[in-house]
Amino acid sequence: MFESLSERLSGILDKLTRRGALTEEDVNAAMREVRRALLEADVALDVVRSFTDKVRARAVGQEVIRSVTPGQQVIKIVHDTLVDMLGSDARPIDLEAPAPVAIMMVGLQGSGKTTTTAKIGLRLTARSRRKVLLASLDTRRPAAQEQLRVLGAQNDVDTLPIVAGQSPTQIAERAMTAGRLGGYDVVILDTAGRIHIDEQLMLEMAEIKRVAKPHEILLVADALTGQDAVNLAKSFDERVGLTGIVLTRMDGDGRGGAALSMRAVTGKPIKLIGVGEKADALEDFDPARIAGRILG
Ligand code: GDP
Repeated sequence: MFESLSERLSGILDKLTRRGALTEEDVNAAMREVRRALLEADVALDVVRSFTDKVRARAVGQEVIRSVTPGQQVIKIVHDTLVDMLGSDARPIDLEAPAPVAIMMVGLQGSGKTTTTAKIGLRLTARSRRKVLLASLDTRRPAAQEQLRVLGAQNDVDTLPIVAGQSPTQIAERAMTAGRLGGYDVVILDTAGRIHIDEQLMLEMAEIKRVAKPHEILLVADALTGQDAVNLAKSFDERVGLTGIVLTRMDGDGRGGAALSMRAVTGKPIKLIGVGEKADALEDFDPARIAGRILG
């Protein structure tokens, strides 16, 4: 039967009857389990290493508190270190800029970008009472603009009327103008995705950024793709500059490892997580909850 990391840690450490301080040996044995669990959760190797180093530094020599078992004590240190590394500073979408505030959504095809664009539109409309305009800049995939229109209509969020033959940059310009003239608070730009990153995609993103001057540039990445998602985030950040990340498919069987790698490698805040296909299946990123999921 699958044993969670917490259970494994208790199993190892609670055999120790010794009281006093946690010895290096005890902590090393525990760190082997932590390392295994994180690698199983698809956390990048160097992230695993820096994580276990941090936990070890905090744990070795620590007095064992009488009221808890050594296992519980190490689990708490692991938990707190996970929360720190995941980013305990929860940062929601920043709308502190003159209206219309542009949010640019980037990512690969199939990552959940269009769905997430609609989800954010719905959240800002329904929860934050903002007037939101959605615009699809994806002129490559024929059905993309229509897909966003349908999602907007289903959720009572306005979408920019589709005009055939315009380039992504022209659509971005038209969206920002429509945003200004229509009194919108927020314009969300759903950019084109590709199967993989290429030079042309990056040039297109840079051009859209120049025109729309987005206040937020959010990468939408599929949490189930693990390491690939992390490499993707690095590339997008280097070329376009990201202000945050949305991890989708967090309702899948991934154990949260992608979130840890993503944050540690890019340093960018994970702002939101997608937890399903429905328009309201979007949650604030909660480091404590993800830490709990990794610990099991
Ligand atoms: P895009 O090509 O990046 O725009 O991807 P789409 O928005 O079209 O999404 C691709 C598929 O993933 C669709 O079937 C979505 O319903 C689904 N999807 C998006 N986000 C999530 C999520 O958080 N969880 C799950 N289970 N499915 C999602």
